[in-house]
Amino acid sequence: MNQPILTCRNVCFSYHSLSGETQALRNISFQIREGEFVAVVGPSGCGKSTLLSLICGLCKPQSGEILMPDHTKARIGYMLQQDHLFEWRTILKNILLGPEINGTLTRAKEELALKLLNDYGLYKFKDKKPGELSGGMRQRAALIRTMVMEPELLLLDEPFSALDYQSRLIVSGDIGRIIKDARITALLITHDLSEAISLSDRIIVLSKRPATIKRQIDISLSLTDDSLLAARNAPEFKDYFSLLWKEISDEYESKTCT
Ligand code: ADP
Ligand code: MG
Repeated sequence: MNQPILTCRNVCFSYHSLSGETQALRNISFQIREGEFVAVVGPSGCGKSTLLSLICGLCKPQSGEILMPDHTKARIGYMLQQDHLFEWRTILKNILLGPEINGTLTRAKEELALKLLNDYGLYKFKDKKPGELSGGMRQRAALIRTMVMEPELLLLDEPFSALDYQSRLIVSGDIGRIIKDARITALLITHDLSEAISLSDRIIVLSKRPATIKRQIDISLSLTDDSLLAARNAPEFKDYFSLLWKEISDEYESKTCT
């Protein structure tokens, strides 16, 4: 079995403000192994984004620990709901922004960017401004901007939720395949249970705030091909969906806190 790339052990975190303390995470422990695609689901406001902020080092746990090899710590990619593309830069210049800022913009990086643009069907839009692209294309450009940094661990915080339903189905399938083909370890936050089942190897279910781990579910689907449709048509799909639905709705019924 592959090496763990991320270990969270008894992680606790609270926000402090003038109005008091908000406990967001309580005793979160899990591991992610190299190459795994793990989804996190949980009620809104339970602490999912907080967990990603801790993993990428924006905040520090109050207790517990988050362990990663040093080479992984330096290579975390983070993709958000908003694409945050700069409107005044072309798609290619947006994609090359990271290497430009950290001084690693080489001819090889530019070639990688052009290859990714080509692989993901955006090559002919490389000199366009973000405003000329659809929401799905913009989100794919945002993924390329992250991939050009050659991440070892990719954190995805509801990256498809700003898209309309049909774009979301297409783009999540595309992006899922891109990440798996590149064998990048990924942690995806989503509130879409079908998306979690069809994209991931394992799903972590969080309770309402303060988030604790309610359950971890390994996903194994009998697939006819690697498409999102095949995943959704797999015979096991509906049982996983019912199981997750029950876990999540129990949390909403027991007085949600947002
Ligand atoms: P989720 O991503 O699951 O919707 P978050 O991790 O964003 O939830 O937030 C968890 C809880 O922490 C929420 O109740 C939210 O209001 C609170 N929270 C988030 N950020 C802050 C902050 N900067 N200061 C105080 N409370 C915060
Ligand atoms: Mg969030």
